[in-house]
Amino acid sequence: MKGRIYSIESFGAVDGPGIRLVVFFHGCPMRCAYCHNPDTWASDQFSEMTVEEILQKFERNQCFYESGGITATGGEPLLQLDFLIALFTAFQERGIHTCLDTSGICFDPVKTDMDKYRKLATVTDLCMLDIKEIDPVKHKKLTGQDNQNILAFARFMDEQGVKLWVRHVLVPGITDDDNDLFELGKFLATLKNFETLDVLPYHTMGVPKYERLGLEYPLKDVPAADKELVLVKKAQIMKGFSFQS
Ligand code: SF4
Repeated sequence: MKGRIYSIESFGAVDGPGIRLVVFFHGCPMRCAYCHNPDTWASDQFSEMTVEEILQKFERNQCFYESGGITATGGEPLLQLDFLIALFTAFQERGIHTCLDTSGICFDPVKTDMDKYRKLATVTDLCMLDIKEIDPVKHKKLTGQDNQNILAFARFMDEQGVKLWVRHVLVPGITDDDNDLFELGKFLATLKNFETLDVLPYHTMGVPKYERLGLEYPLKDVPAADKELVLVKKAQIMKGFSFQS
């Protein structure tokens, strides 16, 4: 079996605990207005790789990964569920920590093969889940997709006992509404394996990529978020969390 891999970063420091081999899967069904990896969307830019080839890359630098492991990110790793399961199974069998960085968008409790998702949960040590917006209408406007299955995915992984780190990108005037953030906090309080909330300031560093790819940047009039705003808004999420707890 081969996976469609956009790229691999050998020494990732922000994609889970420790230093990690970060595997960027190709393709994503979302179209987040602030995406800084639009190059992973393009249909023909990928290499086909086997699990063994990725293991070999890991083993070449294994001594650096002692407190880290492997992270599958993208793009969207869940688009290649079978390959993802095979990859994590091989790494976990070798005692290597596995982290899934996902939007959860491919999960559908009605249509998806739940046995496969249960298998995925057994080979995933940590799930880093993006919750981009709790309000379904605003979520659709921001990403082109509904968020109901994403929230269902969070509940599912939680029920399966997978640790959850949640990220929210704070975009001024778009994902910083106090009521929505309070509701997001309330939702997080319902997840018993929720461990960490990371609120990331929206930045504009992806703009040159859009220019290179000939794409129009959807948020060109939106300023970057500053650290102070992030602190205030993170406190608002935690207010909702405490309210629900
Ligand atoms: S889910 Fe991630 S890769 Fe996909 S469009 Fe959104 S930010 Fe980009």
